[in-house]
Amino acid sequence: MNDCLFCKIIAGEIPSTKVYEDEYVFAFRDINPQAPVHVLVLPKEHICCADKIDETNSMLVAKCFEAVAKIAKAEGLTNGYRVVNNCGADGGQTVKHLHFHILGGKKLDETMA
Ligand code: AMP
Ligand code: ZN
Repeated sequence: MNDCLFCKIIAGEIPSTKVYEDEYVFAFRDINPQAPVHVLVLPKEHICCADKIDETNSMLVAKCFEAVAKIAKAEGLTNGYRVVNNCGADGGQTVKHLHFHILGGKKLDETMA
């Protein structure tokens, strides 16, 4: 996906503040943080959105959530945090590469929508 911003970040073509990387997963700090800790966790393989998760690629989602737990510990989020996925236009997705937001470091607003 040559025109995908997050594929370019994974490839190192666009700089990011990396916080975690393994064989399957890449994670970096959001450029416009909505909380004291705001990290984006994504599969290295390009999947456009949560709507395209199926039996062929769901292992990558599991790997993302394994990474979420590691990152949360590394970031000191001992009192909890929120994991968010925005899917499609109504969900507010702006970058069409599946990613999970880790938000934490403060008591988050209880509003979900
Ligand atoms: P979403 O709206 O769920 O698609 O989330 C996309 C997120 O990517 C937003 O929170 C942006 O602030 C973030 N973002 C966009 N460009 C960059 C970038 N170059 N580096 C880090 N985060 C970015
Ligand atoms: Zn991509």
